[in-house]
Amino acid sequence: MSRFAALFLLGAVAFAGLPARAATVLAGAVEQGSLVVVRTAPGAKAALDGENLPASPDGVFAIGFDRDHGPTSKLVVTLPDGRVETKTLAVAPRAWQIQRIEKIAPALVNPPPEALARIRREVAMKAAARPNDTPQEWFAGHFIWPAKGVISGVFGSQRFYNGEPKNPHYGVDVAAPVGAAIVAPAAGIVRLAEPDMYFEGGLVFIDHGQGVISIMMHMSRIDVKAGQRVAQGDPIGAVGQTGRATGPHLHWAMVWREAHIDPSLLVPGVSAAGAVSGAAVGGD
Ligand SMILES: [Zn+2]
Repeated sequence: MSRFAALFLLGAVAFAGLPARAATVLAGAVEQGSLVVVRTAPGAKAALDGENLPASPDGVFAIGFDRDHGPTSKLVVTLPDGRVETKTLAVAPRAWQIQRIEKIAPALVNPPPEALARIRREVAMKAAARPNDTPQEWFAGHFIWPAKGVISGVFGSQRFYNGEPKNPHYGVDVAAPVGAAIVAPAAGIVRLAEPDMYFEGGLVFIDHGQGVISIMMHMSRIDVKAGQRVAQGDPIGAVGQTGRATGPHLHWAMVWREAHIDPSLLVPGVSAAGAVSGAAVGGD
């Protein structure tokens, strides 16, 4: 459209005296596994599917949609002047791969009884490191890939370990050599930095604000500490094969509150090679 035509249209809209446009704008596609940034009036309140979200003085909210989210979602924004905007969002469904991982040590698929106390302790540790109310909006900028490599496992695939159906794969796997650099995909605060977790091996949580948390697994080295502030691109450690992993790779997961988010939707496509079979180059 020519600049003249655009100006003409703007003029026409102003002339027609249309009501002010909605105060709330969503950035990003609403689909299973997606994280969407909501921008509305400063001081507004928001609720998604009946759950109140923490206040954002700037009117910027993160909302996310789990892998298994149903077909619709309801966003209610209460503006500072009392007006209420209600949006019924269509959550686009996605198709998921089937992935079979063989030759995993049986003790890691079905942990032995003597490991249960340790696993319970680690579950509690992880839950405590996932605050929902960090006020910063680091999630609202763009993300970068935390490691360079081939994608060896995609988000959402239904996993079978040694033929046994297990939880879906809630992350994206980037195959890379042990020792390859891992950087922060966006700014945040490190909430967890543990070198030896039962399932995850070397594990780091980065809190990007409002319950948006990056989870980095199987690391061979961790160069950050809990409580540390990181900027986008800061080194946080190195790729490894620790915990339940079939080869050296980074497992990058993301959550928004309880929802599992697909990190690959937030970053530009990975260089050339594309997705390959999981077990061949290391997964989980
Ligand atoms: Zn993985």
